[in-house]
Amino acid sequence: MLNIVELLIETFGKDCVLTREEAGMRVASNWHQHKNLDCLALLRPATTEEVSKMLQICNEYNQPVVPHGGLTNVVGGAVTKPNEIALSLERMNVVEEINVLNKTATVQSGVVLQNLQKITAKNGLLFPLDLGAKGSCMIGGNIASNAGGLHALRYGVMRNLVLGLEVVLADGTVISSMNKMMKNNAGYDLKQIFIGSEGTLGIITKAVLKLEDLPKSRNTAFVALESFDKANQLLEFFKHHSKNSLTSFELLWQDYYTMMTSPPSFFSPPLPQTHSFYVLIEALGQDAAKDKVLFEDLLERSLENGLIADAAIAQSQQELDWFWGIRENVELIFSVHAPVFLFDVSLAISDMDEYIKKIKSALQYIWADVHFYAFGHMGDGNLHLYVSCGNNDVSTRHLVEETVYKPLQQIGGSITGEHGIGLEKKPWLYLSRTPEEIQLMKTLKKALDPNGILNPGKLLPG
Ligand SMILES: Cc1cc2nc3c(=O)[nH]c(=O)nc-3n(C[C@H](O)[C@H](O)[C@H](O)COP(=O)(O)OP(=O)(O)OC[C@H]3O[C@@H](n4cnc5c(N)ncnc54)[C@H](O)[C@@H]3O)c2cc1C
Repeated sequence: MLNIVELLIETFGKDCVLTREEAGMRVASNWHQHKNLDCLALLRPATTEEVSKMLQICNEYNQPVVPHGGLTNVVGGAVTKPNEIALSLERMNVVEEINVLNKTATVQSGVVLQNLQKITAKNGLLFPLDLGAKGSCMIGGNIASNAGGLHALRYGVMRNLVLGLEVVLADGTVISSMNKMMKNNAGYDLKQIFIGSEGTLGIITKAVLKLEDLPKSRNTAFVALESFDKANQLLEFFKHHSKNSLTSFELLWQDYYTMMTSPPSFFSPPLPQTHSFYVLIEALGQDAAKDKVLFEDLLERSLENGLIADAAIAQSQQELDWFWGIRENVELIFSVHAPVFLFDVSLAISDMDEYIKKIKSALQYIWADVHFYAFGHMGDGNLHLYVSCGNNDVSTRHLVEETVYKPLQQIGGSITGEHGIGLEKKPWLYLSRTPEEIQLMKTLKKALDPNGILNPGKLLPG
């Protein structure tokens, strides 16, 4: 009798099935590329039918399968064990339709986010999801992780951008829910179960995505502020007066801004490093001339009424890259301070300042020389924290995580705003979800994947 890898090769051919040795030439993660894949085999289906047949076989063999998108998640969500089979969507990379009139895109789940952005732009439309890993991450991975990114403030997270989905269940059943309408109240909205399910409930093969008009103007500025309260007032001021064009409001605490604009960073500071807070504000609009005047007027009024202390407006693509580079070049923290723990907590804006002060002093109390950086999508209530205390053994990790996560429970925050649970945050899920919620998640998992073959060990505690 054939073993499962032999059977898969016989059924789908060598091109579709990489052996352990062949798969081992690839990296296990595009986030930290130091480890190679070590899995039983890697499947590369080209069609939904192939995904369905592959899962049918794996289900019959009780064979664990880990879906792979662009492998850019930062929570160990696609970690594949030596006895597990990886299933990569990389060959299902076709944009099947751009419907200009309805403003929808129908895509296979292996389409790389940046490629979709380029194709929609050529059609005068915008797919609004945007994030640092856009050159590698795939739409299926974005949906499975319910990605947030840099434009969520205006356009919402991935959950808000998906109109329809095609998903293959663990037993090979294809659920086609390729809805194209904004409104469809015919029973449960099944696609929402799979969005953010991190590969544990089904394999996403296709999606219908919502598009927006391609912006004709982009106005971006770095501003400096003296207090968190002023940043909050500035956010409200821009929300009320920017005619719905405010797209990003990224807050940087002083330590992070200074780090990102001092050697060995190759970015110089657009504003002096002496202020307590910095915000990268971006507005996208439809009228280049009027939008520029409005944006500059709002900044001028913010300066006059003392909300901001200083401002620098990006005047060219080079300056845009410079400003966004300061916000996004997080790799620098890893290169200078490794080992580093990364967090993406979510909490009410009104709790942010106090929370950051509290955990910073708690961390400093334990590790006097801790490096702590805070920044993120203030407008969405989602912050990224980087903590380095010289060690990353199990007990240190636990203590850092406990210090960062525990205070969130009291204020109703979440341990993750956009990165998801994966392997890394699983022990802390109980802080953000009730026992009843976790039980219902387990019931769903059992109903959709009774043999537990899809991405086992991720998201749900045992
Ligand atoms: C530099 C950098 C910046 C980032 N910035 C952001 C940000 O601003 N916002 C944000 O939300 N995230 C961000 N991320 C995290 C990451 O890019 C996102 O989580 C992204 O959505 C993952 O997509 P992927 O294709 O790489 O998925 P993968 O990493 O391959 O997989 C993610 C999860 O989804 C599952 N999966 C993948 N494809 C499928 C599928 N077709 N069907 C079912 N399950 C599937 C995997 O098993 C895994 O559990 C960033 C990462 C990096 C490295």
